[in-house]
Amino acid sequence: MIQLESISSQEAMNLEDQYGAHNYHPLPVVLTKGEGVFVWDVEGKKYYDFLSAYSSLNQGHGHPKIVNALIEQAQRLTLTSRAFYNDVLGKYEEFATQYFNFDKLLPMNTGAEAVETAIKICRRWAYEVKGIDENQAKIIVCNNNFHGRTTTIISFSNDANAKRNFGPYTEGFLNIPYNDIDALETVLSKHSDIAGFLVEPIQGEAGVMVPDEGYLKKAKALCTQYNVLFLADEVQTGIARTGRLLATCGNCTCEQKDCSGTPDIKPDILILGKALSGGLYPVSAVLANNDIMNVIKPGSHGSTFGGNPIAAAVAMAALEVVNDEHLAENAERLGIIFRDELNKYIKQSTIVKLVRGKGLLNAIVINEHEQSDTAWNICLKLRDNGLLAKPTHGNIIRFAPPLVMTEEQLRDCVAIIIKTLKTFED
Ligand SMILES: *Cc1c(COP(=O)(O)O)cnc(C)c1O
Repeated sequence: MIQLESISSQEAMNLEDQYGAHNYHPLPVVLTKGEGVFVWDVEGKKYYDFLSAYSSLNQGHGHPKIVNALIEQAQRLTLTSRAFYNDVLGKYEEFATQYFNFDKLLPMNTGAEAVETAIKICRRWAYEVKGIDENQAKIIVCNNNFHGRTTTIISFSNDANAKRNFGPYTEGFLNIPYNDIDALETVLSKHSDIAGFLVEPIQGEAGVMVPDEGYLKKAKALCTQYNVLFLADEVQTGIARTGRLLATCGNCTCEQKDCSGTPDIKPDILILGKALSGGLYPVSAVLANNDIMNVIKPGSHGSTFGGNPIAAAVAMAALEVVNDEHLAENAERLGIIFRDELNKYIKQSTIVKLVRGKGLLNAIVINEHEQSDTAWNICLKLRDNGLLAKPTHGNIIRFAPPLVMTEEQLRDCVAIIIKTLKTFED
């Protein structure tokens, strides 16, 4: 067995640098253990995880209920492929469709695959149900979107690093500004061949861009008016992250039946990933009702690992934890405290411009230009002070801790963040 115990942080980083493709630029910290809201590096230093693997670890590191589900299932049956039935997938599909209130679920593994799947379902629906001419279907997307890294998805990205020299690109996408309802209406009224509108309820990678109150609701109403599918990419915002089970929160069966002030939107196609497994396993899903999902027929789409028994068992446990531990309520409550406390500090700060977000998906904007390295340097200092976060841009730091955090821990984290920021004030 490889003796991972004996490796130092420097050695681990050198190995990745030498033998791994350089497709990431990680913060220099080498983790070896995680539990709840904490992670430990190989030298034994303990940190608050304030990224949660981009909101995959909403249920916290190593949640015992989810870990047990994984171990028990792994010992019984790991993979059948969809060539045969297994005795867990159907139970999971029943559980998850009732949980999110849709007729059907299509299981995949990663977020990007689920987005690809949603695009395919939407296009098929356009030809077979809406009656758009062959190969003419368009999907509206937003500027500064992040939906994953596949060739089709980067085709409609405007992130130069994600896109450059990966062409030729997939056609059939129309870009509009995010949070601009007039732009959506204009493009819908101009084109008759539109199949769908693909949108993040909050743009996470773009820097936690929260749209205006009512934007999503109006967008959904326009989609209904023009017979266009509303595709919600809740890979990052879903599973209680923003203080509700879903950021769109349409007709879901979550405990917060009285979500007052929430946009009550039911996406036509819901895309989930990340925390759907509590960060234990790659599990993603696309949910839709029968009138849409029934365009998918045997042979038209699939994945060897999609819907495997481990994924199904893990996802059920992960969703149960969200309800059992009231994670949506906790995210809502702690998010308010987080923004209130930071806002108090920001009033006298020259280095921080603002804090924004919903639930425990938040970001601070640094008073610097986008190419500045200040956010990176702040993250290095946060690391030294025992808290791990990562910039989304040169001047934006995202804060997304596990939702199992207590108020005391959150206040401790706020103190670390403010103490760190103070060292950057002039
Ligand atoms: C992370 C993310 C994806 C892609 O998920 P992967 O599992 O990395 O492929 C898609 N959409 C959104 C909104 C995301 O945050």
